[in-house]
Amino acid sequence: MDQRVKKNRFCIKGGTILTFDDQNSIIEEGEVWCEGNQIIFVGSSGEFKNEGQAEIIDQRGKIICPGFINAHTHSYSSLLKGSVECDPLDLYMLKVIATGSAMSPREIEIAAMLDAASMLLSGTTGVIDHFSERPNLSANGLKAARKGFETAGIRATIATMFADKLYIDAIPLKRDELPDQVLAQYEAQSSPDIENYFSIMEKTVLENSEDRLTRVILGVDGPQRCTEELLQRTGEFQRRHHCGLHTHMLETKTQAVMAPDTQKGFVSHLLDLGLLDNFSSLVHFVWASENDISAARESGVTVVHCPASNTMLGAGVSPILKLREANIPVAFGTDGSNCGPPSLFETMRLGCFLMRLTDPNFEKWVRSEDILKSNLSAGARAMGWDGKIGVLKKGALADLICFDLSGHWHEPYGDITSHLLYYETGQSVSDVWVDGQRVVNNRNLTSIDINSVLEEAAEIRRKRELSLSIDTLQRIELQYPAFKKMIVDTLEHDFPIERRMPLS
Ligand SMILES: [Zn+2]
Repeated sequence: MDQRVKKNRFCIKGGTILTFDDQNSIIEEGEVWCEGNQIIFVGSSGEFKNEGQAEIIDQRGKIICPGFINAHTHSYSSLLKGSVECDPLDLYMLKVIATGSAMSPREIEIAAMLDAASMLLSGTTGVIDHFSERPNLSANGLKAARKGFETAGIRATIATMFADKLYIDAIPLKRDELPDQVLAQYEAQSSPDIENYFSIMEKTVLENSEDRLTRVILGVDGPQRCTEELLQRTGEFQRRHHCGLHTHMLETKTQAVMAPDTQKGFVSHLLDLGLLDNFSSLVHFVWASENDISAARESGVTVVHCPASNTMLGAGVSPILKLREANIPVAFGTDGSNCGPPSLFETMRLGCFLMRLTDPNFEKWVRSEDILKSNLSAGARAMGWDGKIGVLKKGALADLICFDLSGHWHEPYGDITSHLLYYETGQSVSDVWVDGQRVVNNRNLTSIDINSVLEEAAEIRRKRELSLSIDTLQRIELQYPAFKKMIVDTLEHDFPIERRMPLS
């Protein structure tokens, strides 16, 4: 458990405060008073009468707002930057499975610390890590990920990813198109140990506590990658614990065509099995039909929009305006760092721009303030901290950031929220607090030594690349023709909805 001191009182004062409260109040030259890990006052300068000792932190000229929330990453991928090029998801997955498997606890911890460092330094204070440990989840691996996030000082919800089907059975691939030797290797693979998974989860979710920076929830890889038996068991677990669940959903057309019943769809099916409720989040939701959207609304889930990976991997454009019209909360995620940096500002900006291509009525375009608010409130909900983070108000947790918007990138100034959404890269973030702890001070991480993390990460990357066998690389090559045919055939195949952008 954390041994952090809870009761120090401090005041961040002098900046322009964007509260993102119910009225989206903006306070010029305001003050945020915190005690321990809680905000105890947000308002104008001089209104709060302090008694006793307090640290006063002058942030004059800066923007003070809640820390942003990255509602979908994969921490292991911070070690795989620059490893993917022009691959659609299904080919990308072959490489990820080969390069991201069998990590040691220390490698997992370093990956989590590195991802956390990038996020904290660019204004993200909360993250959902769709935690993948291949071939099987282990208690030590999960402990290492938690340690990495807690040491770095970021708030993390860890959704432990699992599936039990062979990868080739989760895609529309004809087995006989694979070379015999590759097929034989797939068939020789042992099944993931589901008993082990649920036994770790039974113990871990009972330990979830508001006193800890990290919490653990269920993390289905994707419904098409799970047997019916596994989905039923997951539903039973979720109904019993209500711990929360996070899953990839309908990312690509090759996934959409795998729905067992295209009329009903995956979302309705998971809803019937008891997997989905307001503690659940569906990531991507690109190839969602009207039925899927209705089922998502009925189930109370949050959708996590990942426009950067969806475009990088050519998956398509998620119908976000339709989701918003259906009153489904939409959070934002950067997805794995092998699809680009975990930069929420780039992600939100791209998501905002893509929405403008999907509907002719420009009066429905979403304004910058709404995009930022959607990130914060829906992100908090998906993390299981609804109303406690993503807002500056009395009683909320002290997860907040300061921007120094001086310099050529931002000046001269216009509308504040327009600056944050359309111009910011995360590089103007100067100071960050998570749970009342100052983890970035004047652009420097205080929680960990970033240089030693970078050094160790580079060494891990070098060693893991050297240990990748020629056989593994050849196996990927041998599968390429069958995968290419599957992807092209599926994309050309008639389907009731279109989510890519063929130009006529
Ligand atoms: Zn993902």
